[in-house]
Amino acid sequence: MRITILGARGSIPTEGEGMIEFGGSTSCVLIEAGDQAVFLDAGTGIMNAPDVGTKQISIFLTHPHLDHILGLPFFPYLQQKNKRIDFYAKRSGTHSAKELVGEVLSPPLWPCRADDYPADIVFHDMALPVRMGDVLVEGIASNHPGGGTVYRVTFSQRSVVYATDYEYDPPKASELVEFARGTDLLMMDGQYTRDELEGKRGYGHSAPESGIRIMKESGAKMIRFVHHDPMHRDDFLRRMEAEAAELYGTDENGSGDGIKTVAFARKEEVIIL
Ligand SMILES: [Zn+2]
Ligand SMILES: [Zn+2]
Repeated sequence: MRITILGARGSIPTEGEGMIEFGGSTSCVLIEAGDQAVFLDAGTGIMNAPDVGTKQISIFLTHPHLDHILGLPFFPYLQQKNKRIDFYAKRSGTHSAKELVGEVLSPPLWPCRADDYPADIVFHDMALPVRMGDVLVEGIASNHPGGGTVYRVTFSQRSVVYATDYEYDPPKASELVEFARGTDLLMMDGQYTRDELEGKRGYGHSAPESGIRIMKESGAKMIRFVHHDPMHRDDFLRRMEAEAAELYGTDENGSGDGIKTVAFARKEEVIIL
């Protein structure tokens, strides 16, 4: 399994000084496994999708907030004639997956519609689990305004869990602990410091200490914090990272091969499991 965190910025894209190391592109994770290329979310990170060869492409949306769908119009594979792209999203109110995308990709908000792109987008009103070849995609509900999905993607006895846009809430957290049980990589919302979180309850995001707790209770082997706050610059994120590593509490953060156990996702970070 090859995981590329194409976008880890939350809420809105950022750029400029202090936004280099952790990147400014919004939510998108690419998982390449077997003959599948699975994209989780379509934030602006999806614009930098690498060449995935002949792998079958699918996109799974956690939820339709703008920062998770904003890159879709510039997804390079939309420009490939007859390229099949399977797009999965949960029905939202009266909106099907196709209608959700249609809200964004249609005039007057955007000059063209999904059907106008050369690729062949196949929309699915998501019902999990979904199996594609040897890849299994499972999900549970996220704790986030308007709802959302936490994904677990499994291939060949390896797995990743993607819990972005998730507000830690102790009564509900046990479900995530069970869902993340023993996973190789937990990608977890760590947008706010504990102090910031005090004024932002109900926004649907967490502080890193919650991720560390989920990691320890679930036995997840590695954590990458995602959904970096747009106001947090590189030096600030490095400090948050050091504090999270301290909470995790081992002398050595990592296995000695340069891969940290506890870290904030870097710009276009690649993790091979
Ligand atoms: Zn978000
Ligand atoms: Zn959201």
